[in-house]
Amino acid sequence: MRLVLLGPPASGKGTQGDVLAQRHEIPKISTGDMLRAARAAGTPLGREAASFMEAGKLVPDEVVIGLVEERIAQPDATCGFILDGFPRTVAQADALDKKLKALGAPLDAALQIDVPRSLLLERAVLRRIDKRTGQIYHLKYSPPPPEAELVHRADDQEATVQKRLDEYEAMTAALLPYYEARELLRRVDGVGSPDEVTRRVVEALAR
Ligand code: AMP
Repeated sequence: MRLVLLGPPASGKGTQGDVLAQRHEIPKISTGDMLRAARAAGTPLGREAASFMEAGKLVPDEVVIGLVEERIAQPDATCGFILDGFPRTVAQADALDKKLKALGAPLDAALQIDVPRSLLLERAVLRRIDKRTGQIYHLKYSPPPPEAELVHRADDQEATVQKRLDEYEAMTAALLPYYEARELLRRVDGVGSPDEVTRRVVEALAR
């Protein structure tokens, strides 16, 4: 399965991507995770990306396209992959399309997880990550255990989240019609427990 996950920040696409990756035994490729790792490692690419990420802005297309093209050419992605957070622009979608055509392995679907903006904001602002385990918690809906060492991602701060949601809305204005025109778009309601959303996702992908 070759899948693109669409859905705004904090829509649960990361969680759903992990579930699908396990079920299908394929890698989930998150450009956000790759960029954060590059930034933490202090590589030239990471340093270039950092200023955009901290401002809640998109990292330039050529940077992320190069990163993804290299990643999906790795042996573990030959049977499929789930892209989380990519593409975010039509230029990225076109580059992906070209690359996959060249590999003779087209996309199966682009999955959009729909969640209202007010709920997204609350999810992101109250989201915390245990820096030792990577486990994600929510201060209201999924409270962390006392021993967790919590961090609040800089790009989960309210003003940055508002900016990311604005950028996301501008982006999907072009990407949803892009995948709809190619009959690849599947939409699911992302409000509910992770298990409920997984059921909807599995159903939508079987259509
Ligand atoms: P995410 O974890 O997917 O929300 O990504 C965090 C940040 O990484 C974003 O706010 C962007 O600055 C950057 N980023 C991740 N994926 C992309 C992409 N496909 N295009 C441009 N910037 C990206």
